[in-house]
Amino acid sequence: MKALVYTGPKQVEYLDFKDPSPTNGELLVKITNVGICGSDMHAYLGHDDRRPAPLILGHEASGIIEEGEKKGESVVINPLVSCGECHYCLDGRSNLCPKRQIISMPPRQGAFAEYITMPPKNLIPIPEGLTTTKAALAEPLATAWHAVLTASRHSHRPLSETKGLVIGAGAVGLGSALSLKAFGCKEVSIAETNKLRRKTAEKAEIGIVVDPTHEGGINDDTMDVVIDAVGCKESRIAAVKSAKPGSVIVHVGLLDGVDGFDARRITLQEIVFVGVYTYTMMDFRQTVSAMAEGKLGALDWFEECSLEEGTKAFSNLFNGNTAAAKIVLKPN
Ligand SMILES: [Zn+2]
Ligand SMILES: [Zn+2]
Repeated sequence: MKALVYTGPKQVEYLDFKDPSPTNGELLVKITNVGICGSDMHAYLGHDDRRPAPLILGHEASGIIEEGEKKGESVVINPLVSCGECHYCLDGRSNLCPKRQIISMPPRQGAFAEYITMPPKNLIPIPEGLTTTKAALAEPLATAWHAVLTASRHSHRPLSETKGLVIGAGAVGLGSALSLKAFGCKEVSIAETNKLRRKTAEKAEIGIVVDPTHEGGINDDTMDVVIDAVGCKESRIAAVKSAKPGSVIVHVGLLDGVDGFDARRITLQEIVFVGVYTYTMMDFRQTVSAMAEGKLGALDWFEECSLEEGTKAFSNLFNGNTAAAKIVLKPN
């Protein structure tokens, strides 16, 4: 098969790759659409020890089942494979399973390819009303959904009575803003430093879009819920400053470092600071339903290109030349 293979820092190449062959009851899936994630970029830059070259990246995929009873069915892939037996899995928190694997991290290859094999339980049928392209947005949106569910669990007030700020207008950021709105949050602001992405966020009409580097872009002490979908020093500083006493900060971004975490302000102001990672199976299914029901908006803030052009898509993303919150690749 053809695949877009990460071969070394700042290098992804469209190459021939060994066809996957299903074992242990897994199913062969033909990939129809696959999004490029921030974590793929992180690996592409050579910053992720967990993803050594050569490796097929990509974990935000939809496709068609190629064999068995459900042959021909369109599905979204939940890329997180868990054991199903440990106490985290049994508690419904499969995202914390110590044996969890994610496609695009060894031993599993990713979805920037024509085919992949997956356990049947990780294949979620695409409901009517959702295209396979939009369905490929389910993974980042499920991450956002999980972040907002976590915010609502830790917030003293119902989200319908809160003012929310999302830092970062990539897919998880936009998804968080959309999920906050779906949960009834009345006023949502989105802070983004990239001008092109601010335009995309404005077009999506989710909330107030601001440039956090501008004076008055983010005001101190004003937010009840803050979702940091960037996870770098600057975004953490902004998150902690903008949070009101007694508010909630959900940290979902995974850029490097620990700087910018003002433990003193968090303590003095009784701010809840909570990390979230990916999603549970329930979050994933709820997100797919919410997408199909239109609860997360028109979902038209992505760009498409062929898998073959993936090398260019990566370098455009690296250079900040992409307005879209997500690039979705299509194998031929
Ligand atoms: Zn992702
Ligand atoms: Zn487990």
